[in-house]
Amino acid sequence: MDLTTVAAITPARTRDDLAALSATVVPLAGGSELYADPRIHLTGLVDLHTMGWPALTVTPDGLEIAATCTLAELSRMPAEPGWVAHPIFHLACTALFGSFKIWNVATVGGNLCTSLPAGPMICLTAALDARVLIWRADGTDEWLPAVDFVTGNTTNVLAPGDVLRSIHVPAAALTARAGYRKIALSPLGRSGAVLIGRLDTDGAFVLTVTGGTVRPVQLRYPELPDPATLAADIARLDGWFTDAHGAADWRRAVSGLLGEEIRQELAEPAAPTGAPAAPQDGTRA
Ligand SMILES: Cc1cc2nc3c(=O)[nH]c(=O)nc-3n(C[C@H](O)[C@H](O)[C@H](O)COP(=O)(O)OP(=O)(O)OC[C@H]3O[C@@H](n4cnc5c(N)ncnc54)[C@H](O)[C@@H]3O)c2cc1C
Repeated sequence: MDLTTVAAITPARTRDDLAALSATVVPLAGGSELYADPRIHLTGLVDLHTMGWPALTVTPDGLEIAATCTLAELSRMPAEPGWVAHPIFHLACTALFGSFKIWNVATVGGNLCTSLPAGPMICLTAALDARVLIWRADGTDEWLPAVDFVTGNTTNVLAPGDVLRSIHVPAAALTARAGYRKIALSPLGRSGAVLIGRLDTDGAFVLTVTGGTVRPVQLRYPELPDPATLAADIARLDGWFTDAHGAADWRRAVSGLLGEEIRQELAEPAAPTGAPAAPQDGTRA
């Protein structure tokens, strides 16, 4: 869709160029969401791709994902030694049912900033205990846990002029085992629930519940909980919502089932080193 009120698209090459951002001049990443609806309040866009941020950088501390990294780039990232959680990157991308055209333009940052409950990059980054780096409009930097970035259905912590710069996944989370489940009302429909469980090398278990709740919510345990405890804790979560992609009570119920499936998957012994188990697809419709 043409954005008929946009008079200029400015390529950003330095952080100073981002000073052009405002309530009516917003960042352009892949454009797959921005160009999906009329946005008559907009007068301009600032293109982030021209910043030239490297999409994926392996660091001694883990993995840095540029906000402009596309889903296609993330999904085909090669594994590093010891990255047991690696299959979860591709699996989470599959929760966005766009064609290859969408995967090649939609960015990790754009998905977080769109802040739909079904945002698979929201689930992925929260599940891996990632932290996000925000470039505030006043020139300061702010670090936040990824799980706190989205505040509600299409709302987040950004103010006009702010930019999500990058997402940082700690090395420890990359060595964990991870289980993924997603369900939608129709085979090509938007996710009704997306859950990722992470079993750390010290036995701690984290379940991240998204899609069914307006913002990501997490359950943390020092070890894998028993089925009854997990079911009760999921049922007690709040934030379930109803829209065209599922009713709140259905989302709560299927999240309980999918959470238990993840618990059972991670309760199984790990595959021997060097022979990772085939990742479970985890998609339902
Ligand atoms: C066919 C199709 C299927 C889709 N399926 C799903 C789905 O299953 N789940 C889901 O969550 N979404 C889905 N979407 C919407 C999806 O969120 C976006 O398409 C995609 O993730 C947006 O990324 P983008 O890079 O194209 O962002 P853009 O469209 O460029 O930007 C989206 C918004 O984020 C802002 N923005 C982008 N990057 C930054 C940044 N670094 N800092 C600050 N603000 C920024 C933009 O100003 C804009 O407001 C789908 C879209 C399509 C077209």
